[in-house]
Amino acid sequence: MRTGDETSTTPAPDRVLGMLGGMAWPSTAEAYTQVNRRVQTARGGDGACELLLWSADFGRVHAMQAQGDWAGAGRLLADAARRLQDAGAGALVLLTNTMHRVAPAVEDAVDIPLLHVADATAAACRAAGAQTVGLLGTRFTMEEEGVRDRLQAHGLHVVTPPGPTRAAVHGHIYDELVRGIVSDGARTVMAAAAAGMVTTGAQAVIAGCTEIELVLADTDVTVPYVATTSTLIDAAVAWLLDGAVPPSPA
Ligand code: GLU
Repeated sequence: MRTGDETSTTPAPDRVLGMLGGMAWPSTAEAYTQVNRRVQTARGGDGACELLLWSADFGRVHAMQAQGDWAGAGRLLADAARRLQDAGAGALVLLTNTMHRVAPAVEDAVDIPLLHVADATAAACRAAGAQTVGLLGTRFTMEEEGVRDRLQAHGLHVVTPPGPTRAAVHGHIYDELVRGIVSDGARTVMAAAAAGMVTTGAQAVIAGCTEIELVLADTDVTVPYVATTSTLIDAAVAWLLDGAVPPSPA
């Protein structure tokens, strides 16, 4: 209980990050670790990132995806985004590629920026010199509207694996990775999918599902590897330290 005579020896942070996570929890745990390590390195000592986390029950989100209830999912995330803003967040990261499909609903609900995964990813691909990019992710991300369109709006040519490989990648994400299971089988499928896209011209491979980098490393890929949990955390750190926001498509 406060007695009224406490004094803080640490200045309040300039920027508080809002994380929309739990989609699913294994990649959010990785993102939480990465952002704190990165800010600690930048600030030194025991410096770290002040953040607010809303973490979804992924079972509920997955059910909405399966039913095609994107409007309901948008309302769920918009409500969570508003709660983070009201609690003091100055910018948001949405720690899932698939749910960026409802990014417009999130952006409409708040007055603070959403550090969009496709904007950060496009910048990373450009920095790596890639124009044609291979996209791995859920079938929603590889086949439907959302991140894929926004990468194209950034002028990138997006390729994906053939249908049976897309189904295998999607299966390993939903049956294993979102549950915290990391298997050699998943690594083998992801690495083969990446290699296949490289043979069809991909100059970079995007791990366009936040859990993929838990199983596929840059050493498993023969071209620049843009892994979206790390890429989102790069964007978050740039905002935390400098207020930078990745540019939207022109
Ligand atoms: N985390 C994954 C992604 O980045 C999949 C889970 C989800 O559907 O949100 O797309």
